Amino acid sequence: MTSIDHRVVVTDRDPAGYTQPGNEAPTGMVVYFPDGCPPVTPAGWPADVDYDCSHGITVCPECIDSWRLDHFVSDPVEVPAGTPLTIQVSWAAERAHAPTRS
Ligand SMILES: [Zn+2]
Repeated sequence: MTSIDHRVVVTDRDPAGYTQPGNEAPTGMVVYFPDGCPPVTPAGWPADVDYDCSHGITVCPECIDSWRLDHFVSDPVEVPAGTPLTIQVSWAAERAHAPTRS
């Protein structure tokens, strides 16, 4: 059985992306599967979240290099039961305070 008990933080490599809010936010915590993204929806996956079986919304050793093409990907961490699948982080306030470059 595949456990949904690891997460990684992925963040956009493109600085222009950092003004995007919400679901388009450039930084997020997503599910990591140490034994590979399962080919079918894993047991315990929330019914209201579409599971994309093509490594599209989750990360594993097989697909991590493709994620790294346009994201920085953290080391995986094991998380306690009940941890959300994803948390999206916006940076709009931080960008607003960034010094302007000439
Ligand atoms: Zn994968």
